[in-house]
Amino acid sequence: MTFEWREVEEASFAVIGDPVSHSLSPAMHNAAFAHLSLPYRYVAIHVSPGEVCDALDRLTHLGYRGVNVTVPHKEEALGWVDHLDPFARRVGAVNTIRMADRAAANTDTPGFLDTLDELGLKPGRPAVVLGAGGSARGVCVALAEAGFDLRIWNRTRARAEHLIERLVVPATVMETPDLAEAGLIVNTTSAALKGGALELDWSGVPGDAVAYDLMYGEPTPFLEGARASGLKTVDGAALLVAQGARSLEYWLDVDAPRHVMREAIA
Ligand code: NDP
Repeated sequence: MTFEWREVEEASFAVIGDPVSHSLSPAMHNAAFAHLSLPYRYVAIHVSPGEVCDALDRLTHLGYRGVNVTVPHKEEALGWVDHLDPFARRVGAVNTIRMADRAAANTDTPGFLDTLDELGLKPGRPAVVLGAGGSARGVCVALAEAGFDLRIWNRTRARAEHLIERLVVPATVMETPDLAEAGLIVNTTSAALKGGALELDWSGVPGDAVAYDLMYGEPTPFLEGARASGLKTVDGAALLVAQGARSLEYWLDVDAPRHVMREAIA
């Protein structure tokens, strides 16, 4: 069930977004609360652009303890918070807010690093990032922190150039998405959301490369293409769990039950 923010019921935690009804975060967090015997409820709340600060005021008034922020509000929410953790400051976006002290974190970036660790992925061959939108920023900071040789391709080239300048990450902007030599290819585009497919040539990609799509749910054309070429593939469910676990730990100072959260969205 998804609420409109003006009509929302009392609960303890929420994800706000537009759209948000598809979010698996309520199932994942409610499973974690049940496992930890915590008396909290986590709900999904629809908030339109331009209304994020008013919605966060209302949720605070209703006694909410913490909020996750998803597309497209991760920057607008910066206007409500007083304190940022280092990743939020660096990336310029927040996905986790603690209402009591108006503090916010970006758990997408360290969560992405967690998933690279889980996959045993280390710098060596280049990492290719497809896309230069909001989520690409966190991914690029994570890959740069981990020491990857970073190559970025975006449909709108100027946006990729701006991303590198703004984040001050060492990276090359590619004219076309050249995957040859890549050890890791991360699709951060939303092309598949609108039924689009990227034109990619998988033929020169080393056989042990990993194709990682931030989207989860139905396999995207990107992952299908990688799979058809025999590559190892990872979808965004791994990141969803990793960032959600870190949000829970930020709010409650507990060890998040990652296995329970993973099962809840499987
Ligand atoms: P943005 O809207 O900020 O960026 C979208 C990007 O996709 C841009 O680079 C855009 O290029 C590109 N794009 C869109 N359509 C096409 C197309 N047809 N062909 C080529 N490129 C295209 O979105 P986000 O970065 O916030 O999110 C991207 C995806 O990542 C979403 O699907 C989201 O659900 C997913 N995501 C998953 C998370 C998880 O926890 N698993 C966390 C965060 C995001 P251009 O600049 O040219 O418009």
